[in-house]
This record gives sequence, structure tokens and C-alpha cells, in this order.
Amino acid sequence: MFSYFKFLSNDIAIDLGTANTLIYVKGKGIIVNEPSIVALNRQTRKMVAIGHEAKEMLGRTPSDIEIIRPMKDGVIADFEVVEDMLREFIRKVHINRFTRPRMVISVPSSITEVEKRAVRDSAEHAGASEVLLIAEPMAAAIGVGLEIHQPIGSMVIDIGGGTTEIAVIALSGIVCETSVRIGGDEMSKVILQFFKRNYNMLIGEKSAEEIKFSLGSAVPLEEEITLPVKGRDLVAGVPKITEVSSVEIREALSEPINAIVDAVRQSLEKTPPELASDILDRGIILTGGGGLLRGLDERLREETNLPIHVAEDPLTCVVRGTGKVLDDIEFYSKVLMKSRR
Ligand code: ADP
Ligand code: MG
Repeated sequence: MFSYFKFLSNDIAIDLGTANTLIYVKGKGIIVNEPSIVALNRQTRKMVAIGHEAKEMLGRTPSDIEIIRPMKDGVIADFEVVEDMLREFIRKVHINRFTRPRMVISVPSSITEVEKRAVRDSAEHAGASEVLLIAEPMAAAIGVGLEIHQPIGSMVIDIGGGTTEIAVIALSGIVCETSVRIGGDEMSKVILQFFKRNYNMLIGEKSAEEIKFSLGSAVPLEEEITLPVKGRDLVAGVPKITEVSSVEIREALSEPINAIVDAVRQSLEKTPPELASDILDRGIILTGGGGLLRGLDERLREETNLPIHVAEDPLTCVVRGTGKVLDDIEFYSKVLMKSRR
């Protein structure tokens, strides 16, 4: 009887990101890929929307609804909301309700014991029978198919919503890592501020992100682009439309991009020479949604003189790697994080 239920149980792998939460179910693939955003009723604190649906509400909510991003800089900022969010996402994957699933969850490599504990507790309250943790850069490296068990150094740059994590991996471990609290969300924020300062115009958080996708870049473009942007005039208080060019947006983005470039330089300086020579041969892998910013790979190539490869489907690397670990926990036992219970 027990083994029958065991057969039915679907263990899951979770990338609990600042911007997006992804869930991989053993034997089924990636079933959840949604923003880590929850809409709550202010009075009752009940969840009214989650994920994509909650993101659509950004900037459009009536006063009785509050939009919460319960993850900040890669770690849990609002414990109760994360628990509800996880429970709801896990409910969506329709795993067998008779057994509690085992969960492998990716977390920032610089996470503290207290922060680890919060992830474990949330997952357990959301139904986990056992929680195993893996460092995000390690998961990303496994996700892109690097041979992490080999005595060869690989460098991974993961640019997420709140943070950029740079790690050198060899022999199933993280040899050195650098983490800065700048990522894709900071890029959207500086675009929002740019419109305030230069055009006296207020744009929404979602528009700022869309402008980053359509006009944002880290190097000059062969053909610069100009697009109309809609917002509200801060002086007249009425809706207005302005033409903005990719040149202006690149200028606005320069600060966070320079900070990321500096962090990459610092981590190269920290890398032991033998591993640095491996990286010189094999290059650096760029993952995370921020890695999709137009020309960021080229900019990093110019700055470091190293080969830079944007991972295939950078937004799912971490969950795919976490899923591979879930599929063969024994093979990957060495890469799991040690933590006190
Ligand atoms: P996290 O792991 O922190 O949840 P993700 O790896 O999911 O983060 O990346 C989310 C970030 O990537 C967001 O800030 C998002 O705006 C940004 N992003 C996604 N696609 C692109 C793109 N095409 N160009 C630039 N930034 C992007
Ligand atoms: Mg991530």
C-alpha cells in the first residue's frame, strides 16, 4: 500500500524567484511559470489573485486590494504570503493529495541559516514532506548542461529580478561567488525615474518593464528605435504620450548595467588562476531574465574580453537544473546545500 502511494506521489522542484516562481513536476515538466506576485484584500487579507493575474492588476487596483511581492532580493520578505502563494501554485500542479511531495528548492548561494529556515518552513507548511535546497547558480549550471562534477571551472552570471549572482563552479561546489542587489527590477525602476525627471511624466511599473523589453539595450544599436510611451503628466495631471528613443533608455540604464559589469570584474579578480584559465577557454554563461536585455552579452564581452554565452531559455535554467537534481538526487547529492535542521 505504502509503495503504491509512493508511486503516485509527484515530487517537485521549485525556483522561488524574486520575479518569477517556476515549478517542475517529476515526469511532467515545468507546470507553473508565473510572477511571484499576490493580490490581497486589505481588510480580510484573503488572496484575490496570484501570478499572471495579479501582475495584470499592477497599477490598476482599487483601494481595497494590495499587490504584494513576497520575495525580495532572492529571499522571503513576507513569510505568510509566500506560504499561501506556494500552496496555491502547488494546488495548480494537481499532485496526488494522499502523499506529501518531496521538494527541491533553489535559493541564493549567499542565503543565511535563518533565511534557509524560512524557505523550509514555508515549503513544509505548504505541504512538503522533505525539503532539499540547492544554490541557484549551481542549479543554473546544471540546467544549461555544464559538467559540474568535473575539475574544470565554469562561471555563471544569473541576473534575476532583485539580484545578480556570479559564481565559479568546479568539482560540484561553488568556489567563489559575488552577489549584488541589482537586477532586472532596478533596470525597470531607473526607467520609471527617467520619465519622471526628464519628461515630468508618471508611467506604471508594468509599462517601465515593457519599455525595458522593447527599447532597453546595453550597447549602441545598429538602428536605434523610437517608440511612443503613454503615461500621466505630473504637472497637468492628464494622460500624455511622448516619443522616446533607445538612446535615452540606454543612458538611463547605464547605472545598473555598470554595477553589474563591476560585479563581474570583481568576481573575475577573486577567481583562482587555474579556474580563470578554464573560464578564458570556455567563457561565461549568462542566465536569468536580466540576461535577455538586448546587447548585455556584447557589453560583457567588450568589458571582459571573454566569450559570453546567453543560456538557452535563460528564464527556465534554474528550474530545469533543480528538476534534474530532483530526477536523480543520488547523482547530485554533493551539490545539495548543507543546512542545520
Ligand atoms: P528571478 O529569478 O529573480 O525571479 P528571473 O530570472 O525570472 O528573476 O528574471 C526576471 C527579470 O528579468 C525581471 O526583472 C524581468 O523584467 C527581466 N526580463 C525578462 N525578460 C527580459 C528581456 N527580454 N529583457 C530584459 N529583461 C528581461
Ligand atoms: Mg532566479
